[in-house]
Parts: sequence; C-alpha cells; structure tokens
Amino acid sequence: MSTAPPNPPAPMLRLDGVSVRYGTRSALEDIRLEVFEHETLCLLGPSGSGKSTLLRAVAGLQPVTAGRTLLAGRVLDGMPPHRRGVGLMFQDHQLFPHRDVGQNVGFGLRVRGEPRARQRQSVARLLELVGLPGAESRPVTALSGGEQQRVALARALAPEPGLLMLDEPLGQLDRGLRERLVVELRALFHTLGTTVLAVTHDQHEAFALADRVAIMNEGTIAQIGTPQEVWQRPATEFVARFLGFDNVVPATVRGRVADTPWGRLPVPPGTPDGTCRLLVRPTGVRFTPDGDGLPCVVRSRTFRGHHVLLRLAPDSGPHLQAEVPLREAPAEGQAVRVGFAAEEVAHLPG
Ligand code: ADP
Ligand code: MG
Repeated sequence: MSTAPPNPPAPMLRLDGVSVRYGTRSALEDIRLEVFEHETLCLLGPSGSGKSTLLRAVAGLQPVTAGRTLLAGRVLDGMPPHRRGVGLMFQDHQLFPHRDVGQNVGFGLRVRGEPRARQRQSVARLLELVGLPGAESRPVTALSGGEQQRVALARALAPEPGLLMLDEPLGQLDRGLRERLVVELRALFHTLGTTVLAVTHDQHEAFALADRVAIMNEGTIAQIGTPQEVWQRPATEFVARFLGFDNVVPATVRGRVADTPWGRLPVPPGTPDGTCRLLVRPTGVRFTPDGDGLPCVVRSRTFRGHHVLLRLAPDSGPHLQAEVPLREAPAEGQAVRVGFAAEEVAHLPG
C-alpha cells in the first residue's frame, strides 16, 4: 500500500528570497517565509532587526530589491498597496479623531463602495466581536487606549483581508491590558480563521499569540518554529540570548559529558560529539548537598514571584543564572555549590 505523505497545507503568504536595502544598508536579506492559511505567525526580534520592514514590503509600502511575494498564489510585486488584499494595523493605530467609532470601523467598506446597509451590518458585527457592541456613535477621542486598539482592530478586519498584519499592536498599552487583549486576539483569530502575520519585540506576547514564531536577527530569520520548539531548542546562541538565556559556554562534548569552563557537565543523549556552544537553562543549575559540585558565591537575587533568579559567581567560568524556588533561595554573599541537570542542557547547533 502506498504511504505517500499528505500534501502540506498551501501557504497563504509566501516570501521567496525577499531583500530590502536602504541605500547601501541591507535591512532584509533573502527572506524565505511561509504563513499558512488560518495561522498566526509572529515575527519576534530586537529593535532594528527588520520586522517592520518585512511587513511594509508585504503591504507594498516598501520597495524590495530582490525576491517575490505571493498571497494566495498571486504575485504581489508591482501591485499597489490597496489592491493587495492585506490589512495592516500599526502600534499608533491612527484612528480618524473627528469621526465616530462606526465611521472609523466602516472606513474600508465605504472606500470600497459597499451598500450602506451592508456597511452598518458589518460594523455592528465587528464591534460585537471586539467587545464593543453598540459603540457606533461614540467619539473615538472618548475611548480608553484599550478600546481604541479594539476599534483599530475592527477597522483592519472589516474588509476581510486575506492576510492581517499587525505591527506591535499592543505596544503602548499597559501590561495587564496587553496580557488580556493578547488572549482575546488569539481567540478572535481562531474564530474568524484569519491568517495573521504579527510583529512584536516581546517574547511573552509572541508566545501567547502565535502558532509559530520567526526570530529575526539583522534582516535574517534566525529560527522559525512553534513557541515550544524555539524555547526548548534555540537554534543559535543569538536566539538563546534573545530569549533571555545567559548561561552559554564553549564546550567539548564526548558521549554524555562535556568539558566546559564550569567543569564537566552531563549532556542529553544524542548530543553530537565535538566542540560547540552549550546552553544551560537556569532551572538546570541545582544546589548540591554535600562537598560536591562547582563552588559559587551568590552575587545577586531577583524576585520573580514564584521563584528567584540568582546570579552566581563560580570559582571558574562565567557567571551563572540559576532559577530556584523562593523558599530555597540563599542570601546574597552566601557560598553554595551547584551541579547541572542534563535535561536542561541544550546543544546550540548554529
Ligand atoms: P524593527 O521593526 O525590527 O525594529 P525596522 O524594519 O524598522 O526594524 O528597521 C530595520 C533596519 O532598517 C534598522 O536598522 C533601521 O534603522 C533601518 N531602517 C528602517 N526604516 C528605514 C528608512 N526608511 N530608511 C533608512 N533606514 C531604515
Ligand atoms: Mg518595528
């Protein structure tokens, strides 16, 4: 019997070697990326890594110097922005201040010449979806920041774009509201089946919103995968450090042990022999009870709610981050000894 694999889902958006330059400076370098139908993909990366440039290139607001972009199989290159069938929402959402909520949300429908009755219906439905039912006649200037964000989202969704692109959509809101909105957004996109390409520099936001994340570094994609894949197996030292992991050292692996500046570490099965960089997650640094282990002095402790993040100065090697339960956390200046848990040690292939 034939066991041919099923066809992979067709990409909604496809970037085929897209490059962008500003003068002589390269902002995007040969980007290859697919966003599948109904998927939310988040571009995550430090400021200046090219995230906004990528969105603007797809939207047609930024000329590309090489490559092709396809949306639902159609080549977008050369097409003006309003013909591309993409919706864009920026951090500074730029609602029209002199128009009411309904006129803001209905803007794209009006431009497209939809019949009035249809416009009214769509606007009412969208306002309901974003949690502002019946807000049509409210002035946008009287709304809170979170409400304005919802109106901007409804406005971007109104023309039913094939692809919705969000650039730091929650960037200016305070933390509690952001955390709530991100959960609502994810539920909304799943309900509507929207295909989304979003940008953020905040890993918690990306992990909460995305089906997959693409981590960007200097105009290239350093790694792409589900939040769990990226978190558990960072592909490069850049990705590891960007995610906040600082325990990265050169190592020589042989079998199940590695020689490092911190001494001998156990490594998980399957770690390739030879020289490499190793990451030790802070949860993998464990206190050892008696005489064993690497001697360290506690340099600082940072309260993180359920746990404490310690900065340890070892006898040899660079400083170590250790995450320990609150009740086990030693005081600053205290001498401790630590060992390492193999399952929290990761080989960085890049
Ligand atoms: P991000 O959104 O990840 O912060 P951007 O896409 O805005 O990054 O910028 C990527 C790089 O391109 C940065 O080095 C930035 O300074 C540069 N850049 C962005 N826009 C322009 C522009 N209009 N002209 C020249 N350089 C730009
Ligand atoms: Mg940006």
